[in-house]
Amino acid sequence: MIPYRYGKASSLEQAAAFLSQAGAGTHVMAGGTDLLGEIKEGTVSPSAVIDLAGVAGLSSIRKGADGLVIGALTTLADLAGDADVARDYPVLHQAALSAASPQLRNRGTVGGNLCQRPRCWYYRDAASVCSKKGGGRCFAENGRNARHAVFGGGICWAVHPSDLAPALIVLDAQAILVSSKGERTVPLAEFFTPPIVNVRRENVLAPDEILKEVRVPARKAADRSAYVKFIERGAWDFAVVSAAVKASVTGSTMRGVRIVCGGVGTKPWRLTAAEQALEGSRPDEPAGQKAAARSLAEARPLAENGYKVDLLKVIVGRAVAALARN
Ligand SMILES: Cc1cc2nc3c(=O)[nH]c(=O)nc-3n(C[C@H](O)[C@H](O)[C@H](O)COP(=O)(O)OP(=O)(O)OC[C@H]3O[C@@H](n4cnc5c(N)ncnc54)[C@H](O)[C@@H]3O)c2cc1C
Repeated sequence: MIPYRYGKASSLEQAAAFLSQAGAGTHVMAGGTDLLGEIKEGTVSPSAVIDLAGVAGLSSIRKGADGLVIGALTTLADLAGDADVARDYPVLHQAALSAASPQLRNRGTVGGNLCQRPRCWYYRDAASVCSKKGGGRCFAENGRNARHAVFGGGICWAVHPSDLAPALIVLDAQAILVSSKGERTVPLAEFFTPPIVNVRRENVLAPDEILKEVRVPARKAADRSAYVKFIERGAWDFAVVSAAVKASVTGSTMRGVRIVCGGVGTKPWRLTAAEQALEGSRPDEPAGQKAAARSLAEARPLAENGYKVDLLKVIVGRAVAALARN
């Protein structure tokens, strides 16, 4: 464990001021379930850590006519256990419940889940200086790549790990980012970035910015949503492939279909061609599978992860069929 400065903020303003003054090498910490692992494993070596745990007013879900405001320090357990979220936003409830283990959900926060770093085994290995850590290449590209991306790879092939991200994107959520210079709003669909933008980062957060909250628009009466996640084993695990789907369902017809997948892309991956193919369709598995196939032309599987392309069709099919039940 390397020594670093530690500061505990009691307000967002204080945290933002610390972040802008402390400079490069300063990391924000919420629950610490990801960051502390990275520090212990030697993946990151911070010069300073600013702890948000004592910041008031960011650990709740506020509800109003406009929808939800989810504070960045809301735990995954509180999100998964919220009765209104479960009723009105099944996709978000199911995604939160599927993430990690009960212990990690008690500690891990929404902000931390969205900003967590990739789980690529080369990135997480302190001895492998891959492109994401400033090295010259992605070791997964011609190495062990069974759990890597089939969409959006190139300079790096690590998949985006968050279960909440696809769910919040189909719900048209917005991220509120704060720094000592002020506040800005970014649609969550534009928050995550592929490695071609900046291989060292996975989102648009500037080094001095903090994710304050996520706003989710109010659910409309006909909205239906679902999250289906495939994992390799029976207990908690990151998604091998997942699909978040939302549509307005009237009778047996879908409109305004949104599909965003996890486990397959270097960022949460939207299946635009599949969405278009499903307009006016029934929410059933064959329609979902057939539509997903339309989005597979852009997939670039590596030597060991071609199975994800077939799996994606099945998982999207199941998620679309689940709309009829939710
Ligand atoms: C064994 C294990 C299994 C897991 N399985 C899953 C899974 O199946 N699905 C899944 O989605 N996740 C999974 N996770 C990840 C887990 O959900 C995250 O570790 C957790 O949500 C992170 O929240 P945290 O508050 O502890 O974040 P921290 O560890 O405190 O921070 C994580 C990262 O986010 C940054 N950060 C945190 N909060 C903010 C903020 N408000 N603004 C800006 N940056 C911020 C930190 O700087 C850090 O880089 C798993 C983790 C573990 C250890």
